Order: sequence, then structure tokens, then C-alpha cells
Amino acid sequence: MLAVLLCCGCTFNTFRANNDDDVPNRYKIEEEHVVLHSDVKLDADDPMIQELLELRKQIGQTLDLELGDKQVEVYLFKDEPSYHKFLAQKYPGLPPRRAYFVGTSSKLAVYTVWSDRIREDLRHEFTHGVLHGALSYVPLWLDEGFAEYFEQPRAAGTPREDYLTDLVRLQQNGWTPNLQRLEYLEGVSEMQRLDYAESWAWVHWMLHHTPQTRSILLEYTHQPRRAQSVPLHQRLRQFDPQPERSLNAWIASSKGVATP
Ligand SMILES: [Zn+2]
Repeated sequence: MLAVLLCCGCTFNTFRANNDDDVPNRYKIEEEHVVLHSDVKLDADDPMIQELLELRKQIGQTLDLELGDKQVEVYLFKDEPSYHKFLAQKYPGLPPRRAYFVGTSSKLAVYTVWSDRIREDLRHEFTHGVLHGALSYVPLWLDEGFAEYFEQPRAAGTPREDYLTDLVRLQQNGWTPNLQRLEYLEGVSEMQRLDYAESWAWVHWMLHHTPQTRSILLEYTHQPRRAQSVPLHQRLRQFDPQPERSLNAWIASSKGVATP
């Protein structure tokens, strides 16, 4: 039985027994919070390992999270055939993506393949791993919003140009943000590129708009699922009657577009 909860190449949880035959095993680098299994030769002090450890610290600080001591295991395949063969055997039916995070009751695992986007892929999936190691539950859209927020190294508060450009273009065609809609998404297959962009926008905006939006987001994130029964869009409305309008204005102003 495979319970698919999330993804963008991304996250899903499964309670099936682990059988990690055919995973990369030629090289292994183990640090306190990350283990890298690879068929690509990497030095123990490879900057990528250090970057993941730095990223872990950054996630903890940005989200005021107690990270605990769970390790994230990263499996780095050397080429697409071996990666896709493994996925097809172990998780048949998954859409072909460059990377997946799999969270089980006993293991936090990232499976990915060497490519020219390996750094971004690793940062994205590793963020899922760190979040699932620290939190008992993360809603789908929020999990992806955080992963999109952390996947590119950038100075705190610097927004993503790529998503802003996409969202401004959508605004010009009448699109407006809708957090309630995002909060209803339950399956990885329901999430399209626009949903990743909008999830990123809500996360970025709430973290950096005002201390109040930041604290609403963080308090919600830290709560267990049963305590999240009041959805985030309702919590925001207690302080800002039209948060969608506020986010819309921020998106437009970030690209120098005037809104009414
Ligand atoms: Zn993801």
C-alpha cells in the first residue's frame, strides 16, 4: 500500500517496508544529520555536503524549529537509467521526476540523479527531509512552499525572480492568489507549476511582510495536525481582511506593476 501525500518531484509518505536494493552504494559520506550514498565519486568535504548542513541550520533558524537528531539519507544515482529503473521497481506508477523525497515512520530518504540542476534538486528535497524530521505533519502546499523557498541559495528576504515573473504574467490575465484553494489540495498530482509558485509566494510574503504574518505562519507550522483545524487563510483574515489582495499587491509591486 502506497499512500502518496505530496510532491513536485517531491514528497510522499509510505508505510511499506523499505527494501533499498539497487540504491547507490559505491560511496558513502556520513555526517551527523545527513548520509550521502552515491555512485558518483564525491569527497567527504564536498561543498554540497557542507551546503546541506548549512541549509539545515538556515531552515531551523528561519522557521524557529527544533530540528531534533534525525538523519536525512540521500541517494544520488549516477545516471537516469539506473535512477528510473529503481523508481519503477520500488514505486511503480510515479511520474518521472528528477528527485523524490520519501518519508516513512523509520526513514527520511531523498532519491535523485546527477544533473546540471542537482544543487537545486538536493536543496529542495533535503528541505522536505528536514521539515519531516522536525514536524509531525506538514500540509502539502506548505511543504512545497517551504521547499521552493529554500531551494535557491539567496539572501533572506530576496524574492524569486522566476516565480514573480510568472505570477505577474498570470495577474495580467486575471489570476489572483487563493490560499483557501491551496489548503484544499491533498495529492501530489493535483499540484501544478502555478501551485508551487503560489505556495512559494505565500510563504515568502508571510515570512517577510510583517512580524505578525511571520508569527501567524510559524505558529501554524509548529502545531500538530489536530491543532491546525482553523485553516491558515482564516487565521490571516483575523488581522488582514483581504490577505489575497495584499499578496497580489506585493507581487505586482515587486515587479513594478501598479494595482488598483
Ligand atoms: Zn517538493
